[in-house]
Amino acid sequence: MTKLSSPKQIDAQVQREAETLLPTKHGDFRLIAYSTGAGSAQPIALVKGEIGGGAVLVRVHSECFTGDVLGSKKCDCGDQLAAALEQIEKEGGVLVYLRQEGRGIGLLNKLRAYELQEGGLDTVEANHALGFGVDLRDYGVGAQILLDLGVRKIRLMTNNPEKIIGLEGYGLEVVERVPLEVAPHEANRDYLLTKQKKMGHLLGGL
Ligand SMILES: [Zn+2]
Repeated sequence: MTKLSSPKQIDAQVQREAETLLPTKHGDFRLIAYSTGAGSAQPIALVKGEIGGGAVLVRVHSECFTGDVLGSKKCDCGDQLAAALEQIEKEGGVLVYLRQEGRGIGLLNKLRAYELQEGGLDTVEANHALGFGVDLRDYGVGAQILLDLGVRKIRLMTNNPEKIIGLEGYGLEVVERVPLEVAPHEANRDYLLTKQKKMGHLLGGL
C-alpha cells in the first residue's frame, strides 16, 4: 500500500516564537513554542533545567488529542506523556511535543481508523484500509528543535526503535534508550500488542 501523502513534505526550518514559564501538575517547565513554516500547528518544547554538554534526557511525543487531552484508554499516549514529564521533572531534560496526530494521519483519519477497528481490524490494518502507511511521522522538526535548544547527545525515552533512527539522521546522537513503559489496561492491550508485533515496539509485560 502506498502512502497517499505525508503531512510534512519538506523539512521546514524551526523558529522560536514564544517562551514562557509553565507550571504544570508534573512540575514547572520552560515552554518554548516554535513555528515551522509548514502548517499551522506549532510544536513546543518543555525544558527542565539547563542544557549542558552532557547527554540530555529527551522525550519526543507526538500529539494524541484523544489520549493526551481526553484521557482515552484506547492508546498509551496520555500515560506516556505524564510519565515522561514526571521523569524530566526529576532528572532535567526536554519534552518535544510534535503536532502530528494519529501517527501523522490527522485526528479525523485516526477516528475513522478507530471505526474500522470496531469492525475487527487492528491499528495497522485500519491505516492500510484508509490508504495510509503504518506510520507517517516525521522527526525532522523534533530534531531541529533539539538542535536549536543546544542538545547534541540524547538519552531518548522511547519504546520505538524507528524514532531513534529518525532522530539520528539529523546529527543527534542517541547514547541511550530509556524505556518508557506504562501499565497496560484492558482497553489498550490489543493496541499495544499490535505495536509490539507489527511495528517493532519494545514492550514487555503485556
Ligand atoms: Zn494515542
